Amino acid sequence: MNCGMCEKCLRTKLVLLCANRLGLTKVFKKNDLTVGLVLKGFTVTDVSTQFCCELIRGLRKSGYKNLARAVMVKRWKYYSERIVNIRGTFAWIDKNILRGMVKHWSHTVNNLTKQPSS
Ligand SMILES: [Zn+2]
Repeated sequence: MNCGMCEKCLRTKLVLLCANRLGLTKVFKKNDLTVGLVLKGFTVTDVSTQFCCELIRGLRKSGYKNLARAVMVKRWKYYSERIVNIRGTFAWIDKNILRGMVKHWSHTVNNLTKQPSS
């Protein structure tokens, strides 16, 4: 018996729902699937991001617009966290490898552009 609550179970439930098979399966403790469950337990990963588009499309097509929206929110969260990570990684490279050259350079450029030309 599967828990029905973890990331893997929720992903499987969403896929089953798209195929109109969730009500028929007996592999989960509970077959319910709500926006709250998705927002709480469904996490988009490097692997599942590839399926998200199809999942969102499938949910919309089957009339589960709110669940599709919940998956979209989670996907958006995944991407926004990656952007933060990219910035963090870039700052680390600048500090440790380029010895703050980029930061210093961008400060210099910012100061130059801020100052009124005389
Ligand atoms: Zn599970």
